[in-house]
Amino acid sequence: MNSTVSLVGSGPGDPELLTIKARRRIDAADVVLHDKLPGPDILDTIPEDKREDVGKRAGGDRTSQEYTNERLVELANDGKQVVRLKGGDPFVFGRGGEEMAHLAAHGVDFEVVPGVTSALAAPALAGIPTTHREHASTVSFVTGHEDPTKAESAVDWDALAATGGTIVVLMGVGKLPDYTAALRKAGMSGETPVALVERASRPDQRVATGTLETIVDVAEREDIEPPAVTVIGQVVGEREQLREAE
Ligand code: SAH
Repeated sequence: MNSTVSLVGSGPGDPELLTIKARRRIDAADVVLHDKLPGPDILDTIPEDKREDVGKRAGGDRTSQEYTNERLVELANDGKQVVRLKGGDPFVFGRGGEEMAHLAAHGVDFEVVPGVTSALAAPALAGIPTTHREHASTVSFVTGHEDPTKAESAVDWDALAATGGTIVVLMGVGKLPDYTAALRKAGMSGETPVALVERASRPDQRVATGTLETIVDVAEREDIEPPAVTVIGQVVGEREQLREAE
């Protein structure tokens, strides 16, 4: 194997949802750079002496992206086999693209190992098909991190509402009140079903459901916390089939 740095997706947290290639790269690595998102069940399978947490500094500050970028290059130049392990898929809201660009700019060999993104796994594990012949012909992955009320928001909630398809929001716990309001303002019915899937695939996975109108109260009552995915659209109603089957 020529590649020195592997940008690896860990999937949503269940070690059995790691790809075979991800498992092989992790086992063969000298160093695994990670943050908290892959989750304890996966991180615990990696010997502590080859793990480097770049998610948080000792003081509690987030390690800068610049530090991670430079550390990857440094380790590669030392001749190390490096895995950069990221939750879900490395290129879905994971800044994997920035790391790839940095490696390329510094002449470091790299490869990408895609992972099972939480954007698809979380709905699936909650019994929600993201597309459906009758209910949804499109699915959009959206960051909930942005403030929908700010004028220069990069997310066009009006356009998303107009698709009539499924909307999957990542990093969307904190701003749930803002974007549910934005979608209603854009003309979506308050009755539109919504699900919150917390810690998908982990032993303590939880699912809470409501509607565009009620979900903010539901989230508060159930004390939903990150990491969680918000699924918005008629497909959420299909979850009832799973519940009946159970
Ligand atoms: N690259 C990741 C996403 C990184 S952004 C991926 O492809 O999944 C971080 C967001 O991912 C979280 O805020 C949450 O919305 C979502 N997420 C990641 N793992 C999750 C999990 N196991 N359950 C629910 N949401 C998860």
